[in-house]
Amino acid sequence: MSKAFKIGNIQIGGGQFALIAGPCTVESESQILEVARSVKQSGASLLRGGAFKGRTSPYDFQGLGEEGIKLLLKAKEATGMPVVSEIVSENHLSLFEDIDVIQVGARNMQNFELLKVLGKTDKVILLKRGMTNTLREFLMSAEYIISEGNNNVILCERGIRTFETYTRYTLDLSAVAALKEMTDLPVVVDPSHAAGKASLVPSMALAAAASGADGVMIEVHNDPVNALCDGAQALTPQVFDETAQKIMKIREAIS
Ligand code: PEP
Ligand code: MN
Repeated sequence: MSKAFKIGNIQIGGGQFALIAGPCTVESESQILEVARSVKQSGASLLRGGAFKGRTSPYDFQGLGEEGIKLLLKAKEATGMPVVSEIVSENHLSLFEDIDVIQVGARNMQNFELLKVLGKTDKVILLKRGMTNTLREFLMSAEYIISEGNNNVILCERGIRTFETYTRYTLDLSAVAALKEMTDLPVVVDPSHAAGKASLVPSMALAAAASGADGVMIEVHNDPVNALCDGAQALTPQVFDETAQKIMKIREAIS
């Protein structure tokens, strides 16, 4: 069994399954509050929402920044859900004081200076696997945080780059089983970025739950068609609700 971390009144790892959900990016107060309330109702334990986005193109929406963090914290206060948000620069660390889990995105998995700074904090860090990184490289990045004194690392498989183009990336579920042999850090799966298409996310989320992952992180948007970022892979609150119910059944079946 993986190690467990307490985050507010919830536990990650140690046999508990974490359902992390929310929009790719915080866009407005009404958007984040609406999504937060609905995913909580569906059983999500943590709310995600990007404020600083490491986008592939500098011309794409970069997130609301500090304002996005404030809106995410409003949703935390309104729902009582702990929150996850991505950091892209150590210069922003002070803004993350009340953020419960700091995400390091795939593109920053080997930003060693950022990892070292996060290693000096006592924050829970959700470290995403780089899309071209091996599991050994992934674990060495976790070590950059741990060796500085912060043991609170959650690993997140989010799809790797292969020759396939129909899906955005290729979800590597063997990574879950392999990481379970290699480390006792909790392992969560992000089927949204791996698939890149909302229609494929529910089945990949169920497969992730069956694979023995300690949780899943799923992008949910109240208006996917008009989302400012990653709308094509966002589940509607209703599809998320159906998926969450099925995930619970899978968990029961394998427990
Ligand atoms: C995200 O979680 O919104 C994200 C940008 O993910 P990744 O770093 O895995 O691409
Ligand atoms: Mn996204």
